[in-house]
Amino acid sequence: MQKRFSVLTVVFLSLLMSLWSSDISANDAPVTIIESVNVVDMRTGEVRPNMSVVVEGTRIVEVAADNLSNAKSSNTAAESSSGTRIINGRGKYIMPGLGEMHGHIPPLTPFQGMPERYMNDVLFLYLAGGVTTVRGMLGYPHQLTVAQQVANGERDGPTLYLAGPSFSGNTVSNLRQARMRVAEQAQAGWALLKVHPGLSLNQYVTMANEAKAHGISFAGHVPEQVGIHHAIIQGSRTIDHLDGYMAATGGMTEPVPEGELRELARFTRAHGVGVVPTQALWATIIGAGDPAVLLAYDELKYVPKPIREGWIRYAQNPNSSYATVATAQIHAENRRRLLRILHEEGVEILLGTDAPQLFSVPGFSIRREIAFMQQAGMSNLAILQSGTIAVGRYFAAEDSFGLIEPGARADLLLLEQNPLEQIDTLYNPAAVMANGHWYSREIIQQRLADIAAAYN
Ligand SMILES: [Zn+2]
Repeated sequence: MQKRFSVLTVVFLSLLMSLWSSDISANDAPVTIIESVNVVDMRTGEVRPNMSVVVEGTRIVEVAADNLSNAKSSNTAAESSSGTRIINGRGKYIMPGLGEMHGHIPPLTPFQGMPERYMNDVLFLYLAGGVTTVRGMLGYPHQLTVAQQVANGERDGPTLYLAGPSFSGNTVSNLRQARMRVAEQAQAGWALLKVHPGLSLNQYVTMANEAKAHGISFAGHVPEQVGIHHAIIQGSRTIDHLDGYMAATGGMTEPVPEGELRELARFTRAHGVGVVPTQALWATIIGAGDPAVLLAYDELKYVPKPIREGWIRYAQNPNSSYATVATAQIHAENRRRLLRILHEEGVEILLGTDAPQLFSVPGFSIRREIAFMQQAGMSNLAILQSGTIAVGRYFAAEDSFGLIEPGARADLLLLEQNPLEQIDTLYNPAAVMANGHWYSREIIQQRLADIAAAYN
């Protein structure tokens, strides 16, 4: 009787699920074959022409020269009956989907007058911007469920690896609390501990030790009382926003000698700590952004009105706390040099923008960040690596992705041009595939138009 009930339950749940999936924008097929396409190898930048890439379910199962592909001959005939989708990739390029290593997912329950749809729209904006993996940098209740729903294909979105609620001066007031909080978050299944300002050195070290004992990593800000050296020694998985470097060198107000930056970069490299620069956002925050440029961002139309108006007020207010800092340009220049030197010294640079945040619109913020990475002297290959293969290395224990190869998660971008030569081809993909789900340009444009219409 009990068994029979559970069978009925399963039938009922799958019925519910199929109703639910009517909300999904993806156009899926059991097998997708992209033929005659150029595959960009993120290890070397080598382009392999006339390849067939075969995706089954959520995995890339074959990458082979057109005439050697097994799947092609066996599946072409079966196209109509088996639902195999064949895409002509002639003249196009395939690369892995991008990672957003400092992203945010809004709470499931709308806050501060946000529309009900906001969280789903943010998830979709990431996809539209070619982002197929997000390291979420602040946990909210129910977010792990959202991540699971995306993984199950019940919700559109990038694969989510999520940090829990933050460790800060507000949430941790003693060492015992720090230990308990680590244990709780590790047990709850969060992928990472998020550090915010306000921890004492003692609290930070206690958190770090407890994190190691639980096999969970921590990352984020560098609290003032901790400082960059201790954060690196204690094993912060990444230093985000280049936090702590300027505090250590006086770089917020004075030009920093190159040797000092290089020494810090070597120290970072020696400890295997990565950085998520979030340069574009930080330029805005420190008051080095140009309000006229920020206000002209086309992607502002994808931001709900209450948020957008807040950003606009900020940019238009000449007395806002940040904009009045006279040394903003010195600070920004130090940050630009620091990123160049970190890259030169072989520190792992990971693409991240802290979206959604001041003028940092999910997915679209990637193009703003890329401009800053170029200004710091990173090549297109190095920039693309920071969002693909480096992200794959970071999450190697969780899954295989960040390369177009058999066994990898089917996260890919189909592009009109070679992104190594024409990086802005990223900004109008012919299609985005995320965990095997297919979003053609038409699907993306339609959904973007819908979002813009809802918020304007
Ligand atoms: Zn953040």
